[in-house]
Amino acid sequence: MQHEKIMKSLKLLSILLLLGTVRSAQSQGLLTSQKIEQRVDSVLQLMNLEEKVGQLVQHTGFWEFTGPVPDGDRATSEAEKIKSGKIGSMLNVVGANSTYNAQKMAVENSRLGIPLLFGYDVIHGYKTMFPIPLAESASWDLEYIRLSAEIAAKESAASGVNWTFAPMMDISRDPRWGRGMEGAGEDPYLASLVSVARVKGFQSDNLANRFSIAATAKHFAAYGFIEAGREYNTVELSSHTLHNIVLPPFKAVVDAGVASVMNSFSDFWGIPATANSYLQRDLLKGKWGFDGLVVSDWGSIAETMNHGYAEDLADAAKVSLEAGSDVDMESGAYESQLKSLVEKGEVSMEILNDAVKRVLRVKFALGLFDNPYKYSNSADEKKFLFTEEHLNASREIAKRSIVLLKNESKLLPINKEKKQKIAVIGKLAEDKDTPLGNWRAKAVSNSAVSLLEGLKENAGSKLTISYEKGYELTSGDRVFSMDLTFAEDKGEGFKGALSLAKKSDLVVYVMGEDALQSGEGRSQVDISLKGRQVELLKQVLQVNKNVIVVLMNGRPIIEPWVYENAPAILEVWHLGSQAGNAIADVLLGKYNPAGKLPVTIPRHAGQIPIYYNYLQNGRPFDKNRDPKFVFWSHYNDEENAPQYPFGYGLSYTSFSYTDMKLDKESITTAEDVKVHVTITNTGDFDGEEIVQLYIRDVVAKPMRPVKELRGFKKINLKKGQSERVTFEINAETLGSYGFDGNYSTQKGLFQIMIGSHSEDVQMKELTIK
Ligand code: BGC
Repeated sequence: MQHEKIMKSLKLLSILLLLGTVRSAQSQGLLTSQKIEQRVDSVLQLMNLEEKVGQLVQHTGFWEFTGPVPDGDRATSEAEKIKSGKIGSMLNVVGANSTYNAQKMAVENSRLGIPLLFGYDVIHGYKTMFPIPLAESASWDLEYIRLSAEIAAKESAASGVNWTFAPMMDISRDPRWGRGMEGAGEDPYLASLVSVARVKGFQSDNLANRFSIAATAKHFAAYGFIEAGREYNTVELSSHTLHNIVLPPFKAVVDAGVASVMNSFSDFWGIPATANSYLQRDLLKGKWGFDGLVVSDWGSIAETMNHGYAEDLADAAKVSLEAGSDVDMESGAYESQLKSLVEKGEVSMEILNDAVKRVLRVKFALGLFDNPYKYSNSADEKKFLFTEEHLNASREIAKRSIVLLKNESKLLPINKEKKQKIAVIGKLAEDKDTPLGNWRAKAVSNSAVSLLEGLKENAGSKLTISYEKGYELTSGDRVFSMDLTFAEDKGEGFKGALSLAKKSDLVVYVMGEDALQSGEGRSQVDISLKGRQVELLKQVLQVNKNVIVVLMNGRPIIEPWVYENAPAILEVWHLGSQAGNAIADVLLGKYNPAGKLPVTIPRHAGQIPIYYNYLQNGRPFDKNRDPKFVFWSHYNDEENAPQYPFGYGLSYTSFSYTDMKLDKESITTAEDVKVHVTITNTGDFDGEEIVQLYIRDVVAKPMRPVKELRGFKKINLKKGQSERVTFEINAETLGSYGFDGNYSTQKGLFQIMIGSHSEDVQMKELTIK
């Protein structure tokens, strides 16, 4: 799309260059370069108070920007505000034409022609859907995770979007919370690496690149620790857990140059996160030197009143801006209050200027002042969305995200070369929408390859595939209602399914959750499967023992009976556009699954929170103790152990871990030590293994968890092949954060563990002198 007039912002740019010496760069963060800083300062000098406030105001687009402004107060006034520089960014305005038209209003009509940012929740793909982020994290494959974010950025950038509200990196230990699906699981080390890979995928090495978009680290901070997993609830968290579990992924992406951070709906230490200066000013912008912008969550500035923290909207605006929330997403507080607060001297111009500079800095870094229409290119939008290349990448990532939980009597992989009758049972098998998952951006409804389609397409000539839905998914308003029960098909469903199961050699039974059953606002007290899916499975197993369960879900599912009685189980999550093909690749053995759980799967909801990196209590279980003795840390009616531990996942082949060795038994804090282990593929298939390194600081003040992941390597071994895998460890690897948020390593004894998951490790000792 070419724009003929000389762009107002280019005029502005030349004025700025003429302005010459302005204040030199002060910020130490990664977005800052001296050139950008000079230009930011120069624009700031030209701005009046209203224009400054405008940069901090974000509105959602609720009307079509592709045509004339419709009649109606809100639309007309929104258009007028953009034209007069009273809005600095929009969310939910997408598409090359819409963003072009909105940008034109800002650039051509406002006094300074400052371009808009267009933000959107591109969480796991824009039009080509990738696995939901939790699933993708199960691949532990940082290159593919980066690629999926890169493709999402490319499709977004081709459609006018220059800012995504992703990645989410809230560590959560509570699967009742629906938003775990958006994150990278329970471990801060894995989540840090995954989040950095995502930020690099979105932003590339240079935000000014044509297909780079600004990323957002969210939600700052501790939203994943809402009490009882109930959405938007209060948070109670120790400083120890804050620094060691919650903050590391945020620190990692700030160090990697993330352009923005979003705060959270929850409170922290009695202060709403949005108005929390300790989090935003002291840590994020102070100690860590973050120089990008902080955006509030939707309406969270006004919600500081609901928390009982701000007195009125003016107070909400004041406490939030002062605490470091730069941009007000949709609460109207800055828009209506900031000007008069500054005029009355209740909010300082210095604080206002700092917030405005952060917004301008991101706009400069994206190159919007040089070409505000850079992202709004309808030719690119036609060319780069939902391409074959992107779909192929989605399939690759999807198959790597699958976790094999169980494979008794080697039911899997299904032998394609043998004549077999395969029964596919379960409504989710034909569902082309659920695999797209929640937070699906511009995905077209029902655009995923269903499991049934994928299996039929890839089965070859010897397998006969027949299908019975068995149970029904109830429809309803999936977006806003909680009515997501799974019911028995009226009358015939079970009968048909059972007779098909009986006459088949093998059953693929698909069960799980609807796409919108997990995600924001989808907390559940009971995270077992809805409806009569398990009941049907029980009946199917009575007529055919050869059942492969395929679990399609957005969060860990508690179903002990299923885990204990189904002979084979594949956790496939919600895998995106190519779900059916990726599942078929795994079912048919074209790809040998290698995913490992990024979360613990509980045995019972009463165990929640349950996670692998817990602190040891004073009365741990001792197997030498009389089991009837009750005064140790346990439940009387359930085991302590989870159903499946963090890091767990099988392969069609098997791997042995032998000959673990440390180069030295003790090191100083200035030295390195190498840890070696030999991994051998001892089974019948070529395969990949994710080799995991855990550590324990045995005696520490404050104490440290029983295990902490501090390294992993994904290796590929042909059958019979061995590889000597080496990790390097030093004081940095073994450290932790103190109550003050400073990182250090304590001297003394450490356990170094290597294994295939958190409960299957070998151990050697290491002393730090
Ligand atoms: C969510 C954010 C999201 C925002 C904008 C909020 O409800 O918490 O994660 O980015 O909406 O859609």
